[in-house]
Amino acid sequence: MFTRRTLFKLLAAVGVGSLWPTQGQAEEASPATPGRRPSHISYDTSLDFPATISDSSSALSAVEQWENLLDDLDAVELIGRYSRLTPVGDGSRDYRGPCPFCRQGPDSLMVGSRDDSYVCTNCLACGHALDFYIRMERLSLEEAIPRLTGLLVSGALTGKRLRLERMGVALEETRRLACEALQHGSAGHDTREWMKREGVTQETSEQFSLGFLSKDVRQALIPHLRANGFDQAELEEAGMTGWLARHGDESDMSVLISVRDVDGSCRGFCEQAMHENAEVMWTFYSLPYGFTLLSPHRADRLVLSARNGRTSSASVILAERPWDVVLLAEAGIEDAVYVAPLDPAEYRRRLNLYLQRGHTAIWPIRQADITVEFLRGLTDGFGRSAGQLHFAILPPGLRLPEVIRQEGIESVRARLARAKPLRDLLGA
Ligand SMILES: [Zn+2]
Repeated sequence: MFTRRTLFKLLAAVGVGSLWPTQGQAEEASPATPGRRPSHISYDTSLDFPATISDSSSALSAVEQWENLLDDLDAVELIGRYSRLTPVGDGSRDYRGPCPFCRQGPDSLMVGSRDDSYVCTNCLACGHALDFYIRMERLSLEEAIPRLTGLLVSGALTGKRLRLERMGVALEETRRLACEALQHGSAGHDTREWMKREGVTQETSEQFSLGFLSKDVRQALIPHLRANGFDQAELEEAGMTGWLARHGDESDMSVLISVRDVDGSCRGFCEQAMHENAEVMWTFYSLPYGFTLLSPHRADRLVLSARNGRTSSASVILAERPWDVVLLAEAGIEDAVYVAPLDPAEYRRRLNLYLQRGHTAIWPIRQADITVEFLRGLTDGFGRSAGQLHFAILPPGLRLPEVIRQEGIESVRARLARAKPLRDLLGA
């Protein structure tokens, strides 16, 4: 079973410092999304990286490799190499077979295909498929990671990479159709006019692969993907059908902003509604949701930026909305990112993970929003990662792009340059 200690050993092996969070902090930062990771398994990715390792790309890539393995391994395939697994049946996606550890009973080993975990009801061995492999092969974690990665790369193990690739193709096709609908379709006319009023040029629209989920696209997408070899179950698993069903109402018109992985693959879309009174003005996370279910660790690393989720800047600007990243890029600020809603009380986990990966960030905020409750939320939610945050004060009631319109870009740059760390915030 993975523990912080085993991962610490791995990171120590690649030359990482030795500052680690207290148990309390570790529990605080643990994932809490239901249905994704069983609570009895102690692996998680919410490592509180010490500031000293932010420069250590080798350490980060080691952690990312580990996370990618957790996403890519297919427990039924991997464990099926050691135990003859059969489906539980009755609509369940679980499997069972003899346990190779205790060898007691014919079917004491249960394998969950949804979260790639296993548990033996007899000897209580349990964990992720990766733990199973380490235990079976008597390997250390640092030995197991390259070996399993090699098996996936060589094709000896299929894992979930094929499903990930196919999902990428479906999303890329969706992006292409939505972009065409925005650029050329008559239905995209109102959207183009709205974008003009927002000040978004053609060049920026192309940079972000902006699209329009028109009625035509909504109706044509599933048949189009089916004609291109995707079956219905696959599209449902990708979250495609549920996502489109959400847009059944004609009045619910959204601009799609492509969210890309660091390798440039389209992983979903943030939506920006064009009507003031739209029920949902914008989506917090990329949709459809299938990518998050299939590859939760990669999904946690997704950010929307002008440069495919990564930035070379020492410090980034946290955008309040995905759409703000587009507007800021239009104004010449290319190092804005959208990570999560800027609300420490509710959405701290994702932003916390982002900070733990070594980023420092400027948080644009209005003076009136700096309350005791807000500061409590920051220190409770982010722990010492809060030290990587600086705060730029905005005029009352305005978002950063609106300040640019009112005061001009130089004034905004000056505001950003004056951003203060948390400890100076009360004196702002
Ligand atoms: Zn057992």
